[in-house]
Amino acid sequence: MKDISVNREPTELRQMLDYLGIAAFVIDVVSADEFRLAAINSRHEQLTGMKHSEVAGHSIDELFSPDMAAGVIEEYRRCVETKAVIDYQEKLDFPIGRTFWQTVLVPFFDESGNVTRLLGTANEISAQMHMELEAHYQATVMSAYLDESPDGILVVDANNKIKTWNRRFLELWSISEAVMNAGDGNAALEAVVEQVQAPSTFVERVKELNALPEEEEREVRIDMKDGRILQRYSRGLYGSAGDYWGRIWFYRDVTKLQHMTDKLLHMSQTDSLTGIANRRVLFEALKKEYSRAQRYDRPLSVLMLDLDHFKRVNDRYGHPTGDAVLREFVQVVKSEIRDSDYFARMGGEEFAIVLPECRLEAARQKAERLCRAVAAHTIDTLAGPLSITVSIGAATISDKDVNPDHLLSRADQCLYAAKSAGRNRVFPRGDVENCV
Ligand code: GH3
Ligand code: MG
Ligand code: MG
Repeated sequence: MKDISVNREPTELRQMLDYLGIAAFVIDVVSADEFRLAAINSRHEQLTGMKHSEVAGHSIDELFSPDMAAGVIEEYRRCVETKAVIDYQEKLDFPIGRTFWQTVLVPFFDESGNVTRLLGTANEISAQMHMELEAHYQATVMSAYLDESPDGILVVDANNKIKTWNRRFLELWSISEAVMNAGDGNAALEAVVEQVQAPSTFVERVKELNALPEEEEREVRIDMKDGRILQRYSRGLYGSAGDYWGRIWFYRDVTKLQHMTDKLLHMSQTDSLTGIANRRVLFEALKKEYSRAQRYDRPLSVLMLDLDHFKRVNDRYGHPTGDAVLREFVQVVKSEIRDSDYFARMGGEEFAIVLPECRLEAARQKAERLCRAVAAHTIDTLAGPLSITVSIGAATISDKDVNPDHLLSRADQCLYAAKSAGRNRVFPRGDVENCV
Protein backbone atom coordinates (compact mmCIF):
# COMPACT_ATOMS: atom_id res chain seq x y z
CA MET A 1 0.00 0.00 0.00
CA LYS A 2 1.22 3.51 -0.78
CA ASP A 3 2.29 5.73 2.09
CA ILE A 4 -0.09 8.68 2.43
CA SER A 5 2.34 10.55 4.68
CA VAL A 6 4.45 11.34 1.60
CA ASN A 7 3.17 14.59 0.12
CA ARG A 8 0.74 13.73 -2.59
CA GLU A 9 -1.77 15.55 -4.72
CA PRO A 10 -5.33 15.48 -3.33
CA THR A 11 -6.56 13.65 -6.42
CA GLU A 12 -4.09 10.86 -5.96
CA LEU A 13 -4.92 10.67 -2.26
CA ARG A 14 -8.56 10.43 -3.14
CA GLN A 15 -7.98 7.53 -5.49
CA MET A 16 -6.21 5.71 -2.68
CA LEU A 17 -9.05 6.44 -0.26
CA ASP A 18 -11.62 5.12 -2.67
CA TYR A 19 -10.20 1.66 -2.17
CA LEU A 20 -11.52 1.80 1.37
CA GLY A 21 -15.13 0.67 1.53
CA ILE A 22 -16.12 3.24 4.18
CA ALA A 23 -16.17 7.03 4.35
CA ALA A 24 -12.56 8.22 4.65
CA PHE A 25 -10.70 11.51 4.72
CA VAL A 26 -7.15 12.81 5.03
CA ILE A 27 -6.21 15.80 7.15
CA ASP A 28 -3.03 17.83 6.66
CA VAL A 29 -1.64 18.93 10.01
CA VAL A 30 -0.49 22.51 9.32
CA SER A 31 0.06 23.49 12.97
CA ALA A 32 -1.32 22.62 16.38
CA ASP A 33 -4.32 24.84 15.59
CA GLU A 34 -4.69 24.48 11.87
CA PHE A 35 -5.88 21.40 10.10
CA ARG A 36 -6.73 21.21 6.41
CA LEU A 37 -8.91 18.68 4.71
CA ALA A 38 -6.64 17.15 2.04
CA ALA A 39 -9.14 14.71 0.54
CA ILE A 40 -12.40 12.85 1.04
CA ASN A 41 -13.40 9.68 -0.76
CA SER A 42 -16.51 9.08 -2.82
CA ARG A 43 -18.27 7.17 -0.02
CA HIS A 44 -17.72 10.23 2.17
CA GLU A 45 -19.21 12.40 -0.59
CA GLN A 46 -22.24 10.12 -0.76
CA LEU A 47 -22.87 10.16 2.95
CA THR A 48 -22.22 13.86 3.63
CA GLY A 49 -23.25 15.62 0.45
CA MET A 50 -19.83 17.39 0.35
CA LYS A 51 -17.80 17.43 -2.90
CA HIS A 52 -14.11 16.58 -2.81
CA SER A 53 -13.41 19.24 -5.46
CA GLU A 54 -15.08 21.90 -3.31
CA VAL A 55 -13.64 21.04 0.11
CA ALA A 56 -10.10 19.75 -0.57
CA GLY A 57 -7.49 22.21 0.73
CA HIS A 58 -9.94 24.02 3.05
CA SER A 59 -9.22 24.40 6.75
CA ILE A 60 -11.61 22.85 9.25
CA ASP A 61 -12.68 26.34 10.42
CA GLU A 62 -13.98 27.04 6.93
CA LEU A 63 -15.98 23.83 6.73
CA PHE A 64 -17.92 23.82 9.99
CA SER A 65 -19.58 26.25 12.37
CA PRO A 66 -17.19 27.58 15.06
CA ASP A 67 -18.56 25.28 17.78
CA MET A 68 -18.44 22.21 15.61
CA ALA A 69 -15.01 23.08 14.20
CA ALA A 70 -13.65 23.51 17.76
CA GLY A 71 -14.85 20.01 18.66
CA VAL A 72 -13.35 18.47 15.53
CA ILE A 73 -10.00 20.28 16.00
CA GLU A 74 -9.83 19.09 19.59
CA GLU A 75 -9.98 15.47 18.46
CA TYR A 76 -7.36 16.06 15.71
CA ARG A 77 -5.08 17.76 18.22
CA ARG A 78 -5.49 14.85 20.61
CA CYS A 79 -4.40 12.45 17.87
CA VAL A 80 -1.40 14.67 17.03
CA GLU A 81 -0.36 14.98 20.67
CA THR A 82 -0.82 11.35 21.67
CA LYS A 83 0.63 10.15 18.33
CA ALA A 84 -1.78 7.26 18.70
CA VAL A 85 -4.88 5.94 16.96
CA ILE A 86 -7.97 7.46 18.49
CA ASP A 87 -11.61 6.41 18.24
CA TYR A 88 -14.53 8.69 19.09
CA GLN A 89 -18.13 9.60 18.31
CA GLU A 90 -18.97 12.95 16.77
CA LYS A 91 -21.99 14.90 15.61
CA LEU A 92 -21.51 16.92 12.42
CA ASP A 93 -23.70 19.10 10.24
CA PHE A 94 -23.09 18.38 6.58
CA PRO A 95 -24.94 19.59 3.47
CA ILE A 96 -27.02 16.43 3.84
CA GLY A 97 -28.05 17.37 7.38
CA ARG A 98 -27.12 16.41 10.94
CA THR A 99 -25.15 13.18 11.10
CA PHE A 100 -23.55 11.02 13.80
CA TRP A 101 -20.26 9.23 13.26
CA GLN A 102 -17.99 6.67 14.85
CA THR A 103 -14.60 7.95 13.68
CA VAL A 104 -11.09 6.44 13.84
CA LEU A 105 -8.05 8.71 13.33
CA VAL A 106 -4.66 7.24 12.42
CA PRO A 107 -1.59 9.52 12.66
CA PHE A 108 1.17 9.51 10.00
CA PHE A 109 4.67 10.79 10.80
CA ASP A 110 7.52 12.51 8.96
CA GLU A 111 11.15 11.41 9.32
CA SER A 112 11.58 13.40 12.55
CA GLY A 113 8.55 11.75 14.15
CA ASN A 114 6.10 14.65 13.85
CA VAL A 115 2.51 13.95 12.90
CA THR A 116 1.92 15.51 9.50
CA ARG A 117 -1.22 13.79 8.35
CA LEU A 118 -4.24 12.07 9.82
CA LEU A 119 -6.21 9.36 8.07
CA GLY A 120 -9.80 9.30 9.22
CA THR A 121 -12.27 6.52 8.60
CA ALA A 122 -15.81 7.04 9.73
CA ASN A 123 -18.89 4.87 10.13
CA GLU A 124 -22.14 6.71 9.99
CA ILE A 125 -24.23 5.83 13.04
CA SER A 126 -27.04 8.38 12.64
CA ALA A 127 -29.82 5.78 12.45
CA GLN A 128 -28.56 4.06 15.57
CA MET A 129 -28.14 7.40 17.37
CA HIS A 130 -31.61 8.48 16.37
CA MET A 131 -32.95 5.23 17.76
CA GLU A 132 -31.06 5.76 20.99
CA LEU A 133 -32.28 9.36 21.22
CA GLU A 134 -35.82 8.24 20.46
CA ALA A 135 -35.60 5.50 23.10
CA HIS A 136 -34.25 8.04 25.58
CA TYR A 137 -37.06 10.44 24.68
CA GLN A 138 -39.67 7.71 25.07
CA ALA A 139 -38.23 6.69 28.43
CA THR A 140 -38.28 10.32 29.61
CA VAL A 141 -41.87 10.85 28.51
CA MET A 142 -42.89 7.53 30.04
CA SER A 143 -41.32 8.29 33.38
CA ALA A 144 -42.88 11.78 33.43
CA TYR A 145 -46.23 10.19 32.63
CA LEU A 146 -45.84 7.62 35.36
CA ASP A 147 -44.84 10.30 37.87
CA GLU A 148 -47.54 12.80 37.02
CA SER A 149 -50.41 10.59 35.91
CA PRO A 150 -53.62 10.96 37.90
CA ASP A 151 -54.14 7.24 37.21
CA GLY A 152 -52.64 4.51 39.34
CA ILE A 153 -50.67 2.36 36.90
CA LEU A 154 -49.40 -1.18 37.28
CA VAL A 155 -47.59 -3.33 34.73
CA VAL A 156 -47.18 -7.06 35.24
CA ASP A 157 -45.49 -9.63 33.01
CA ALA A 158 -47.03 -12.79 31.59
CA ASN A 159 -46.42 -14.57 34.92
CA ASN A 160 -48.02 -11.80 36.96
CA LYS A 161 -44.66 -10.55 38.18
CA ILE A 162 -44.74 -6.82 38.89
CA LYS A 163 -42.66 -4.86 36.36
CA THR A 164 -43.62 -1.19 36.89
CA TRP A 165 -45.96 0.90 38.99
CA ASN A 166 -46.31 4.54 39.86
CA ARG A 167 -46.72 6.59 43.03
CA ARG A 168 -50.42 7.09 42.40
CA PHE A 169 -50.96 3.34 42.35
CA LEU A 170 -49.47 3.08 45.86
CA GLU A 171 -51.69 5.95 47.05
CA LEU A 172 -54.90 4.60 45.55
CA TRP A 173 -54.40 1.16 47.04
CA SER A 174 -52.56 2.19 50.22
CA ILE A 175 -50.02 -0.48 49.38
CA SER A 176 -46.45 -0.43 50.62
CA GLU A 177 -43.49 -0.07 48.29
CA ALA A 178 -41.99 -3.18 49.92
CA VAL A 179 -44.84 -5.36 48.65
CA MET A 180 -44.45 -3.91 45.16
CA ASN A 181 -40.67 -4.30 45.21
CA ALA A 182 -41.08 -7.95 46.15
CA GLY A 183 -42.56 -8.26 42.66
CA ASP A 184 -45.25 -10.87 43.28
CA GLY A 185 -48.48 -9.78 41.58
CA ASN A 186 -50.60 -12.28 43.51
CA ALA A 187 -49.21 -11.14 46.87
CA ALA A 188 -49.95 -7.52 45.94
CA LEU A 189 -53.50 -8.52 44.99
CA GLU A 190 -53.98 -10.21 48.37
CA ALA A 191 -52.64 -7.12 50.14
CA VAL A 192 -55.26 -4.81 48.62
CA VAL A 193 -58.32 -6.92 48.01
CA GLU A 194 -59.97 -6.45 51.39
CA GLN A 195 -60.44 -2.76 50.57
CA VAL A 196 -62.86 -3.68 47.80
CA GLN A 197 -66.56 -4.15 48.52
CA ALA A 198 -66.74 -7.41 46.56
CA PRO A 199 -63.31 -9.02 47.11
CA SER A 200 -63.98 -12.44 45.60
CA THR A 201 -65.50 -11.03 42.38
CA PHE A 202 -62.53 -8.66 42.13
CA VAL A 203 -59.92 -11.42 42.54
CA GLU A 204 -61.72 -13.74 40.15
CA ARG A 205 -61.85 -11.07 37.46
CA VAL A 206 -58.18 -10.10 37.86
CA LYS A 207 -57.16 -13.75 37.56
CA GLU A 208 -59.46 -14.23 34.59
CA LEU A 209 -57.95 -11.22 32.82
CA ASN A 210 -54.43 -12.45 33.53
CA ALA A 211 -55.37 -15.71 31.84
CA LEU A 212 -56.99 -13.97 28.85
CA PRO A 213 -54.36 -11.77 27.19
CA GLU A 214 -56.74 -10.56 24.48
CA GLU A 215 -59.38 -9.26 26.85
CA GLU A 216 -59.64 -5.50 27.40
CA GLU A 217 -61.56 -3.57 30.02
CA ARG A 218 -62.73 0.02 30.14
CA GLU A 219 -64.44 2.02 32.87
CA VAL A 220 -65.11 -1.01 35.05
CA ARG A 221 -66.53 0.29 38.30
CA ILE A 222 -64.99 -0.85 41.57
CA ASP A 223 -66.68 0.15 44.80
CA MET A 224 -64.36 0.47 47.75
CA LYS A 225 -65.34 -0.20 51.36
CA ASP A 226 -64.31 3.36 52.30
CA GLY A 227 -66.87 4.78 49.84
CA ARG A 228 -64.46 5.59 47.02
CA ILE A 229 -65.35 4.56 43.49
CA LEU A 230 -62.52 3.49 41.20
CA GLN A 231 -62.59 2.86 37.49
CA ARG A 232 -60.40 0.16 36.01
CA TYR A 233 -58.92 0.02 32.51
CA SER A 234 -56.80 -2.92 31.52
CA ARG A 235 -55.30 -4.51 28.44
CA GLY A 236 -52.62 -6.94 27.31
CA LEU A 237 -49.17 -5.75 26.26
CA TYR A 238 -47.50 -7.26 23.21
CA GLY A 239 -44.04 -7.04 21.68
CA SER A 240 -43.66 -5.93 18.06
CA ALA A 241 -43.57 -9.61 17.02
CA GLY A 242 -46.95 -10.11 18.70
CA ASP A 243 -45.48 -11.96 21.68
CA TYR A 244 -47.40 -11.49 24.92
CA TRP A 245 -45.50 -9.44 27.52
CA GLY A 246 -48.07 -9.07 30.22
CA ARG A 247 -50.79 -6.64 31.19
CA ILE A 248 -51.16 -2.97 32.07
CA TRP A 249 -53.74 -1.87 34.65
CA PHE A 250 -54.99 1.66 35.19
CA TYR A 251 -57.02 2.65 38.23
CA ARG A 252 -58.74 6.03 38.35
CA ASP A 253 -60.51 7.55 41.35
CA VAL A 254 -63.86 8.74 39.98
CA THR A 255 -65.61 9.25 43.33
CA LYS A 256 -66.17 13.00 42.88
CA LEU A 257 -67.12 12.62 39.24
CA GLN A 258 -69.50 9.77 40.05
CA HIS A 259 -71.17 11.74 42.86
CA MET A 260 -71.61 14.69 40.53
CA THR A 261 -73.01 12.46 37.80
CA ASP A 262 -75.36 10.78 40.29
CA LYS A 263 -76.50 14.18 41.52
CA LEU A 264 -77.09 15.47 38.00
CA LEU A 265 -78.94 12.30 37.07
CA HIS A 266 -81.06 12.57 40.19
CA MET A 267 -81.78 16.24 39.45
CA SER A 268 -82.74 15.44 35.87
CA GLN A 269 -85.23 12.82 37.08
CA THR A 270 -86.70 14.51 40.12
CA ASP A 271 -89.22 17.21 40.74
CA SER A 272 -87.39 19.64 42.99
CA LEU A 273 -90.42 20.79 44.99
CA THR A 274 -91.80 17.40 46.00
CA GLY A 275 -88.83 15.06 45.48
CA ILE A 276 -90.86 12.58 43.41
CA ALA A 277 -90.21 11.68 39.77
CA ASN A 278 -90.82 14.25 37.05
CA ARG A 279 -92.89 13.85 33.90
CA ARG A 280 -89.91 12.68 31.81
CA VAL A 281 -89.36 9.71 34.11
CA LEU A 282 -93.07 8.93 34.07
CA PHE A 283 -93.14 8.87 30.27
CA GLU A 284 -90.14 6.54 30.26
CA ALA A 285 -91.74 4.23 32.83
CA LEU A 286 -95.04 4.25 30.98
CA LYS A 287 -93.34 3.43 27.69
CA LYS A 288 -91.52 0.50 29.30
CA GLU A 289 -94.58 -0.83 31.13
CA TYR A 290 -96.79 -0.31 28.09
CA SER A 291 -94.63 -2.47 25.83
CA ARG A 292 -94.23 -5.08 28.59
CA ALA A 293 -98.01 -5.20 29.13
CA GLN A 294 -98.62 -5.52 25.39
CA ARG A 295 -95.96 -8.18 24.85
CA TYR A 296 -97.08 -10.39 27.73
CA ASP A 297 -100.74 -9.41 27.62
CA ARG A 298 -100.63 -8.03 31.17
CA PRO A 299 -102.96 -5.41 32.70
CA LEU A 300 -101.75 -1.81 33.05
CA SER A 301 -103.63 1.26 34.26
CA VAL A 302 -102.92 4.95 34.62
CA LEU A 303 -104.34 7.59 37.00
CA MET A 304 -104.25 11.33 36.28
CA LEU A 305 -104.70 13.54 39.35
CA ASP A 306 -105.35 17.28 39.61
CA LEU A 307 -105.88 19.20 42.82
CA ASP A 308 -109.23 20.92 43.04
CA HIS A 309 -109.42 24.70 43.13
CA PHE A 310 -105.78 24.92 43.92
CA LYS A 311 -105.64 28.48 42.70
CA ARG A 312 -107.83 29.38 45.66
CA VAL A 313 -105.33 27.81 48.09
CA ASN A 314 -102.61 30.02 46.69
CA ASP A 315 -104.85 33.06 46.65
CA ARG A 316 -106.02 32.55 50.21
CA TYR A 317 -102.86 31.24 51.94
CA GLY A 318 -100.05 32.43 49.70
CA HIS A 319 -97.76 30.61 47.33
CA PRO A 320 -95.34 29.17 49.96
CA THR A 321 -98.28 27.52 51.72
CA GLY A 322 -99.42 26.22 48.33
CA ASP A 323 -95.98 24.63 47.95
CA ALA A 324 -96.22 23.05 51.39
CA VAL A 325 -99.66 21.68 50.50
CA LEU A 326 -98.26 20.12 47.30
CA ARG A 327 -95.52 18.43 49.33
CA GLU A 328 -97.97 17.14 51.90
CA PHE A 329 -100.34 15.90 49.20
CA VAL A 330 -97.43 13.88 47.76
CA GLN A 331 -96.79 12.25 51.15
CA VAL A 332 -100.44 11.26 51.50
CA VAL A 333 -100.48 9.67 48.03
CA LYS A 334 -97.16 7.91 48.59
CA SER A 335 -98.48 6.25 51.73
CA GLU A 336 -101.40 4.80 49.72
CA ILE A 337 -99.53 3.32 46.74
CA ARG A 338 -97.09 0.45 46.23
CA ASP A 339 -93.34 0.79 45.61
CA SER A 340 -93.85 -0.75 42.19
CA ASP A 341 -96.26 2.03 41.17
CA TYR A 342 -94.75 5.04 39.38
CA PHE A 343 -95.84 8.35 40.86
CA ALA A 344 -94.78 11.60 39.20
CA ARG A 345 -95.54 15.29 39.18
CA MET A 346 -96.52 16.19 35.64
CA GLY A 347 -96.37 19.93 36.36
CA GLY A 348 -98.23 22.50 38.49
CA GLU A 349 -100.78 20.68 40.62
CA GLU A 350 -101.11 17.76 38.23
CA PHE A 351 -99.80 14.28 38.97
CA ALA A 352 -99.91 10.86 37.37
CA ILE A 353 -99.57 7.29 38.62
CA VAL A 354 -98.69 4.30 36.41
CA LEU A 355 -100.05 1.09 37.92
CA PRO A 356 -98.49 -2.06 36.43
CA GLU A 357 -100.43 -5.33 36.81
CA CYS A 358 -103.56 -3.36 37.67
CA ARG A 359 -106.96 -3.70 35.89
CA LEU A 360 -109.35 -0.78 35.58
CA GLU A 361 -111.57 -1.73 38.52
CA ALA A 362 -108.58 -2.10 40.87
CA ALA A 363 -107.16 1.19 39.58
CA ARG A 364 -110.49 2.88 40.10
CA GLN A 365 -110.74 1.57 43.67
CA LYS A 366 -107.22 2.71 44.39
CA ALA A 367 -108.16 6.15 43.04
CA GLU A 368 -111.26 6.23 45.26
CA ARG A 369 -109.06 5.45 48.28
CA LEU A 370 -106.67 8.24 47.28
CA CYS A 371 -109.56 10.71 46.93
CA ARG A 372 -110.84 9.85 50.38
CA ALA A 373 -107.38 9.91 52.00
CA VAL A 374 -106.59 13.35 50.54
CA ALA A 375 -109.94 14.82 51.55
CA ALA A 376 -109.64 13.36 55.07
CA HIS A 377 -106.15 14.76 55.56
CA THR A 378 -105.80 18.03 57.41
CA ILE A 379 -102.83 20.22 56.64
CA ASP A 380 -101.57 22.52 59.37
CA THR A 381 -100.57 25.91 58.07
CA LEU A 382 -99.61 29.18 59.74
CA ALA A 383 -103.06 30.43 58.85
CA GLY A 384 -104.71 27.43 60.46
CA PRO A 385 -105.67 23.92 59.33
CA LEU A 386 -106.82 23.39 55.76
CA SER A 387 -107.85 20.46 53.65
CA ILE A 388 -107.91 19.90 49.92
CA THR A 389 -109.51 17.54 47.46
CA VAL A 390 -108.34 15.90 44.29
CA SER A 391 -110.02 14.74 41.09
CA ILE A 392 -108.77 11.60 39.40
CA GLY A 393 -109.19 10.11 35.93
CA ALA A 394 -108.46 6.43 35.45
CA ALA A 395 -107.77 4.51 32.23
CA THR A 396 -106.53 1.03 31.43
CA ILE A 397 -104.63 -0.36 28.45
CA SER A 398 -106.90 -1.33 25.55
CA ASP A 399 -106.52 -2.91 22.11
CA LYS A 400 -107.60 0.42 20.64
CA ASP A 401 -104.57 2.25 22.06
CA VAL A 402 -101.95 2.96 19.42
CA ASN A 403 -99.29 4.15 21.87
CA PRO A 404 -98.74 4.95 25.57
CA ASP A 405 -99.62 8.63 25.00
CA HIS A 406 -103.04 7.51 23.91
CA LEU A 407 -103.59 5.70 27.21
CA LEU A 408 -102.41 8.76 29.14
CA SER A 409 -104.69 11.11 27.21
CA ARG A 410 -107.69 8.86 27.89
CA ALA A 411 -106.90 9.12 31.61
CA ASP A 412 -106.70 12.90 31.14
CA GLN A 413 -110.14 12.97 29.49
CA CYS A 414 -111.52 10.99 32.45
CA LEU A 415 -109.93 13.55 34.80
CA TYR A 416 -111.72 16.30 32.89
CA ALA A 417 -114.98 14.33 33.25
CA ALA A 418 -114.37 14.01 37.03
CA LYS A 419 -113.87 17.79 37.25
CA SER A 420 -117.04 18.45 35.25
CA ALA A 421 -118.99 16.06 37.42
CA GLY A 422 -118.20 18.17 40.50
CA ARG A 423 -114.55 17.44 41.57
CA ASN A 424 -113.33 15.38 44.58
CA ARG A 425 -114.18 12.24 42.65
CA VAL A 426 -112.95 9.54 40.34
CA PHE A 427 -114.03 8.97 36.76
CA PRO A 428 -115.14 6.48 35.57
CA ARG A 429 -117.42 5.71 38.48
CA GLY A 430 -118.17 2.14 39.57
CA ASP A 431 -119.99 1.58 36.30
CA VAL A 432 -117.13 0.66 34.00
CA GLU A 433 -119.35 1.29 30.96
CA ASN A 434 -118.64 5.00 31.49
CA CYS A 435 -115.04 4.45 30.54
CA VAL A 436 -113.78 6.87 27.87
P1 GH3 B 1 -109.39 23.06 39.12
O1 GH3 B 1 -110.17 22.48 40.23
O2 GH3 B 1 -110.21 23.29 37.93
O3 GH3 B 1 -108.18 22.23 38.79
O4 GH3 B 1 -108.92 24.46 39.62
P2 GH3 B 1 -107.44 24.93 39.92
O5 GH3 B 1 -107.49 26.23 40.59
O6 GH3 B 1 -106.69 23.87 40.64
O7 GH3 B 1 -106.90 24.99 38.46
P3 GH3 B 1 -106.01 25.98 37.70
O8 GH3 B 1 -105.33 25.16 36.62
O9 GH3 B 1 -106.81 27.17 37.27
O10 GH3 B 1 -104.94 26.47 38.71
C1 GH3 B 1 -103.83 25.72 39.07
C2 GH3 B 1 -103.08 26.53 40.05
O11 GH3 B 1 -101.99 25.82 40.59
C3 GH3 B 1 -102.53 27.79 39.46
C4 GH3 B 1 -101.15 27.91 40.01
O12 GH3 B 1 -100.94 29.10 40.70
C5 GH3 B 1 -101.04 26.76 40.99
N1 GH3 B 1 -99.73 26.19 40.93
C6 GH3 B 1 -99.16 25.54 39.89
N2 GH3 B 1 -97.88 25.16 40.24
C7 GH3 B 1 -97.70 25.58 41.53
C8 GH3 B 1 -96.60 25.47 42.45
O13 GH3 B 1 -95.54 24.93 42.16
N3 GH3 B 1 -96.75 26.01 43.67
C9 GH3 B 1 -97.89 26.62 44.04
N4 GH3 B 1 -97.96 27.12 45.26
N5 GH3 B 1 -98.91 26.74 43.19
C10 GH3 B 1 -98.85 26.22 41.96
MG1 MG C 1 -104.51 21.88 36.77
MG1 MG D 1 -106.40 22.00 39.70
